[in-house]
Formats: sequence, C-alpha cells, structure tokens
Amino acid sequence: MQRRSFFSGLGAGLGLTAIGTRASAAFEVTRTEAEWRAMLSDLEYRVMREEGTERAFTSPLNDVKGPGVFHCKGCDLPLYDAAHKYDSGTGWPSFWQAIAPDAIGTKEDRKLFMVRTECHCRRCGSHLGHIFDDGPQPTGKRHCINGVSLVFKSA
Ligand SMILES: [Zn+2]
Repeated sequence: MQRRSFFSGLGAGLGLTAIGTRASAAFEVTRTEAEWRAMLSDLEYRVMREEGTERAFTSPLNDVKGPGVFHCKGCDLPLYDAAHKYDSGTGWPSFWQAIAPDAIGTKEDRKLFMVRTECHCRRCGSHLGHIFDDGPQPTGKRHCINGVSLVFKSA
C-alpha cells in the first residue's frame, strides 16, 4: 500500500490563507464587523469583507452597458466607468481599467496556489475582485469584479 500525503499537504496550505485580509487600519472609511454585517447581505459580506467570490453569471451587472458609473457598495466611491466595461465571457463584470488609478488598491493574493493581484476599494477596503493580464487594449488588463461589490448609477 502506498501512503498518499498529497491531501494533508493541501490542508496545511489552506490554513494559511486567511492572513492579511483584515489590514484595514489604513482605510479612510472603517466600520466594525457588526456595522458591516448590518449593511450587507450574507453574500455581500462574504465577498466584500472576506474576499469571497460570487458565482459566475449570477450578477445582474454583467449585462449593464451604461452609460454610467459603478460605485463601491461599501462606501459609494466611484470605482469603474461603464465606458471601460467589456464582455470578457467569464461571467463576472469586467473592466480594462478603474475610473481613476487611485480609486482602487491592490495586493498580492497567494490563495488557490497561484499568485494573483487582488483589488479592493481604496476608501473602505472592500474586496472587489482580481486583476489579470489578459484584458483588451489599451491596458491589456482585466479587472474581474464581483457584481455584489458594486452599485450601478446610470448617467
Ligand atoms: Zn468602498
């Protein structure tokens, strides 16, 4: 009989993933956990405050074409302009750039055994999604954003 240790190694790796998600001291808008829970649905809380991911193709914002601006659901900061939205086919609202370079913050995310660029609202720290390098020109970036983190306001 062969001993298989792969899965025990997997478990040890997963134990480390929660570190770093609560570094919120530097954000301009801060709320207690209870305040966040009171203003967000369970899914919104899981995505925005615990870096969860909504199921693909579930966001009504996938089909929104604008014109208008997507704001942070956590603090109402304008984050993405519909003019920069495109259909990536992934099932999540996708943009090739943020409305302003300083609207979002980023950090390295090593969950899921790969290195990704996590992005969040600059003002309240709410998790938005990830940024990948397979987007369209002129930036070549794909901001893959959870719709539950955003509120659309048509122009
Ligand atoms: Zn925010």
